[in-house]
Amino acid sequence: MTANLPTSAARIEADISALAEITEPGRPYTRRAFTPMFLKGREWLARRFEAAGLRVHVDAAGNLIGSRAGRAPNLGTIMLGSHSDTVPDGGRYDGIAGVSAALEVARALADQDIALDHDLEIIDFLAEEVSIFGVSCVGSRGITGTRREEWLSRQSEGVTLANAIGELGGNAAASMTRNDIAAFLELHIEQGPVLENQDLDIGVVTAIAGITRIEIAVDGRADHAGTTPMGARKDALIAGASIALAVERLATELAAGPFHFAATVGEFRVEPNAANVVPARVTMLIDARAERRDGMERFLIQLRDSVAAIAAQTGVAVSALRVLSDNMPAPCDAGVVAVLDAACRSTGARHRRMASGAGHDTAWMARITRAAMIFVPCAEGRSHTPEESARPEDIALGAAVLLEAVRRLDKDLQEKP
Ligand SMILES: [Zn+2]
Repeated sequence: MTANLPTSAARIEADISALAEITEPGRPYTRRAFTPMFLKGREWLARRFEAAGLRVHVDAAGNLIGSRAGRAPNLGTIMLGSHSDTVPDGGRYDGIAGVSAALEVARALADQDIALDHDLEIIDFLAEEVSIFGVSCVGSRGITGTRREEWLSRQSEGVTLANAIGELGGNAAASMTRNDIAAFLELHIEQGPVLENQDLDIGVVTAIAGITRIEIAVDGRADHAGTTPMGARKDALIAGASIALAVERLATELAAGPFHFAATVGEFRVEPNAANVVPARVTMLIDARAERRDGMERFLIQLRDSVAAIAAQTGVAVSALRVLSDNMPAPCDAGVVAVLDAACRSTGARHRRMASGAGHDTAWMARITRAAMIFVPCAEGRSHTPEESARPEDIALGAAVLLEAVRRLDKDLQEKP
């Protein structure tokens, strides 16, 4: 840990504790986007933005933005931020750490009277988590031209998403794709155990993994569990279990390579699910995540081969093997990643490069600008739970890395975006 940081752990801790108080009563920590509690959190954040000397507005996509003008506005904007909404019964740090760290960068610049050439914006993205409308990353998709038109008519408690965006100060009908952003940076808690286990301060994120969801259904035959001889059955559960083991084996092999890969059978249903009946049907849902697209393609080919082999061995029929959704990985900008490495070195932060297995607003921002992110450690890798915990000093060190990266990018990026 480095002494004499330009950023303040105490201010970050104050932000995080104050937002932690703004939660559904008796349900820490719940501040879901579009709910009255979320608006209360944002009102508090807006005041903190103003206290840091930022000009505050809500953009058309419903993002809360605090901005500070640069000396050369034609160079565009350096944007920093994350999200203040939470999952139900979530933690105090997921998203919030990044908003507070971004705000701390603005405060540190003001403390030291540092003027930037670029405009600076601190952003609280609207609804990064799956919202009450069933969709996520509403704000970052809004400003990157990737928000789906049909989302706007989705309803929650009789209100459409379009109206809900309007109620918090946005305008869903307005055009909002940004083309002035020179670079975007996000700090986030790791939500995994790697940094803590390796005793590191910062993970410099190389890519946000693509997520592919695959549904598999196998049909065996329902028979009497007592009278059908072993060896004369078409047991769908035995086939399904073998497929789950194959998923684990394939994913483990891919994960042993240089790039992040993970796959999980998170949903598994057996029919008829009765004690005295040989299982007739199994359906399962696989969530697979790859840093590199070629990794995912290899997984899909090997999975199809394994499923066919298991079906042949067990006598079941594969009635479905469907890719339900398939998102590409989002590589972070190599130049900004190098700047973040250099910022870690000059700040004295022990760091490594790593991929993000979780989705983030940065994945969408990478579509329109040079985007990258850093992780700070969280206790035991726990996240999306009230037990989620991160040290304010670690977040302050992350904020110092962001500040250093902003100063370097401000000098390096001297052309119009
Ligand atoms: Zn998050």
